[in-house]
Amino acid sequence: MTTEEKNALLNHETVRAMSEGREVFWRNPGLRPFIEIRDTLPLTAADIADAEARLVRFAPYIARRFPETAEQAGIIESPLREIPAMREELARRFGESVEGRLFLKQDSELPIAGSVKARGGIYEVLQHSEALALEAGLLREGEGYEVFDSERFRDFFSQYAIHVGSTGNLGLSIGVMSAALGYRAYVHMSADARTWKKALLRKKGVTVIEYASDYSKAVEAGRREAGKDPRSYFVDDENSTALFLGYSVAAGRLAAQLKDLRVPVDRDHPLFVYLPCGVGGAPGGVAFGLKHVFGDDVYCVFAEPVQAPCMLLGLATGLHERVCVQDIGLTGQTAADGLAVGRPSGFVGKTVAPLIAGAYTVADEALFPYLRALWDSEGIFIEPSACAAFRGPRAAQDTVREAFTPAQLRGAAHVIWATGGRLVPEPERRAYREA
Ligand SMILES: *Cc1c(COP(=O)(O)O)cnc(C)c1O
Repeated sequence: MTTEEKNALLNHETVRAMSEGREVFWRNPGLRPFIEIRDTLPLTAADIADAEARLVRFAPYIARRFPETAEQAGIIESPLREIPAMREELARRFGESVEGRLFLKQDSELPIAGSVKARGGIYEVLQHSEALALEAGLLREGEGYEVFDSERFRDFFSQYAIHVGSTGNLGLSIGVMSAALGYRAYVHMSADARTWKKALLRKKGVTVIEYASDYSKAVEAGRREAGKDPRSYFVDDENSTALFLGYSVAAGRLAAQLKDLRVPVDRDHPLFVYLPCGVGGAPGGVAFGLKHVFGDDVYCVFAEPVQAPCMLLGLATGLHERVCVQDIGLTGQTAADGLAVGRPSGFVGKTVAPLIAGAYTVADEALFPYLRALWDSEGIFIEPSACAAFRGPRAAQDTVREAFTPAQLRGAAHVIWATGGRLVPEPERRAYREA
């Protein structure tokens, strides 16, 4: 991008504010009635159903290989919990009152990978493995997928490699799953990745390759390395429809949980969902799924750090993957390591452009007070990236007040999508709480 083009970006009011590192809320002028655009989207409800069915086929294998999932019969899912004490604490500590009920979607507790990446990442590895096994005639039609947990299958997969570029959590998810199946797994880590994540992966037999540069460079290196070997597969976080569909399955599961808790979602009871966003796959996939379930009654809002608002920038300018946060003078660096992404996924940006209600940015300093407040009020730990979602109700409030009646606001449910935390070691947790 030329200097002239970069300067032109700053004519956009929200972009100018972002370039100054300020917190912004951007209401998406491109949001459309779902029914009008559903058939123009690159993926469909049938694709989501196909992903769900694949996860069901693999459930017996998952239950056997990862005993922590046995109770849920190998379905990798997280609790949805109402957090009334945190709701009070938000008002008391920060003067941020939430109208309606407040819930936490605890992907921070997802088994195996401890973050939202346990949805997309694991799904993509399973999809690839199923395809390889079928192609090789290893898996006979109708055979139970427990056989993936056998020497025969591990020997087979050991001929193949899987590569991924990651700021940390995607690497954990892909690395752990690939190693369990018997692949040679390579994770290309950006400078933002935490030391304990690299150590954990190495302990699982994953090869971790470290880069002094950012996420985009780590992805590029992974793509290049994988390209050299025909028996290797590259998980492309920037363009993967498999990852996206793995994430999308969360929506139907959330709908069932809301129903169990007797939380209505309709015109009079809007559902607000706040989703921390990095390259876009996780929040994009979840939002895509939610629109299929709840249509215009769900309002998906993306959360990004003030120094790395790549998706907001791509959407607001319409430039998607052709623009990066460095183009408007931002660093891309943040304490929210899972969100430290400078350039958004073009595939995701274009897909969610008519689906999401808006996006906002949050300062790093705001994340730790939320982290502490949740711990003190509910005894729940989530990692800094996940805390970005707690800024949502406040960031969106002016826009929301304009668009809804007082009765609708009282009837609303707000879901904070807590995207990670389970695997964070205790010393790190303590440091975050004391930050
Ligand atoms: C990866 C990640 C996100 C965002 O997912 P993207 O697909 O990169 O947008 C949010 N929170 C945490 C904790 C993550 O690891």
